[in-house]
Amino acid sequence: NADMALYAAKAAGRNTYHFFKPIFADQASERLELELALREAMERQELSLYYQPKVAASDHGFLGFEALLRWNRGELGFVPPDRFVPVAEDCGLIGQIGSWVLAEACGQIARWYRAGYGWRKVAINVSARQLVHDDLVGMIGRECERQGISPTLLEVEVTESCVMSNPSQTSPILAALRAMGVSVAIDDFGTGHSSLSYLRRLPVDVIKIDRSFVHEAARDTGAEAIVKTIVNLSKTLGMDVVAEGVETLEQAEMLARMECDVLQGYCFAQPMPVDEIERRWRESDATPSALGLAEI
Ligand code: C2E
Ligand code: MG
Ligand code: MG
Ligand code: MG
Repeated sequence: NADMALYAAKAAGRNTYHFFKPIFADQASERLELELALREAMERQELSLYYQPKVAASDHGFLGFEALLRWNRGELGFVPPDRFVPVAEDCGLIGQIGSWVLAEACGQIARWYRAGYGWRKVAINVSARQLVHDDLVGMIGRECERQGISPTLLEVEVTESCVMSNPSQTSPILAALRAMGVSVAIDDFGTGHSSLSYLRRLPVDVIKIDRSFVHEAARDTGAEAIVKTIVNLSKTLGMDVVAEGVETLEQAEMLARMECDVLQGYCFAQPMPVDEIERRWRESDATPSALGLAEI
């Protein structure tokens, strides 16, 4: 296939783009295939949530989870969310998937409590489409009521580019979420085009530094300066700051020195299915209600 494409490019001459055509065709058909399979994924119960712990930078104590969507296509394996979430957004399935994620996360908070594991705070990721077009505030209110949980146990993560694409539209929605007790986090911060003066006016509780800066900060002084600046800015604005993608103890120590509040990454734990989390809790010595991260 690649050889044929190369041959076509040669035959057509140097200054044409024929070389890329077959690749685009493949991507388009791959997307279509994903879209068709995704439409059935919910009925087949192929979607699930994994949970990744967040810990305090100061003592690595457990603070809560981020719920991350997983699509297990059986023999075809897991499809990474970075590949299927954009497809779901484009083909209009994200609303349905997003409300499933919300219901599942709220249900899990309630199930953990009933099983004696205490109240566990969970953050869910929300797409631009859901934030703007769905009645997210109403949906969260109804779901929390149905499960008998407080909205203060929920956090909503929206990407910087989503919020900043139309701040006058997104800000009131974020404000309404906060008014009902849900905390709001800006995800992948540093990758978008935030106007810093606008950030000051955004109704936001938490800033999550994108993992690309976290990875480079230990080696690259430019990235280190960016991380430091984001931490200081967040503090000044009274926001909590989370570093995502923390993979080494060296990174964790550097972030703690910078007074970053919360850490998340493979250094502490990978995203895990519910049974794995509960197995670790059960195998720990702590009483269920006092379970912390030491056991995870
Ligand atoms: P995100 O919200 O920024 O999530 C963080 C990503 O970093 C996750 O990838 C997580 O597994 C990964 N990660 C965590 N710790 C480390 C680490 O130490 N090193 C590295 N290299 N990676 C780490 P994942 O689970 O593949 O999710 C990718 C993206 O898909 C998420 O980025 C989020 O934007 C989106 N996504 C996931 N679940 C949902 C969902 O339920 N709804 C929506 N709308 N988007 C979702
Ligand atoms: Mg996130
Ligand atoms: Mg992120
Ligand atoms: Mg991301």
